Amino acid sequence: MADVADGGGMISPVCMVCEQELTESGGILLGPPEADGRVQKTHLCAAHAPTAADLVQFAAFTAARHTLTAARARASNSPDPAARTAQSRAWVDYRGALSALGAR
Ligand SMILES: [Zn+2]
Repeated sequence: MADVADGGGMISPVCMVCEQELTESGGILLGPPEADGRVQKTHLCAAHAPTAADLVQFAAFTAARHTLTAARARASNSPDPAARTAQSRAWVDYRGALSALGAR
């Protein structure tokens, strides 16, 4: 039985980048789970599917952002100059990961 919500038929997924219907499977990016447990799916065609290198860069960026957030929280709660140094270092790492991501 077809689901009425999707128009009663199979909808071909569309690439998020070029908006072409996917005729062959490319890639699916899964977002972080939302509060209700659902996960946002993003479809990408074969031409726009992330490569393994992209995913490594994205993971590095996510980790750097997480480290920076934690370092900022520590620096704002602590008079220790080492916390500020750690924050500066985390910022440099974050900028590096960000530009690596943008240079793809
Ligand atoms: Zn595409």
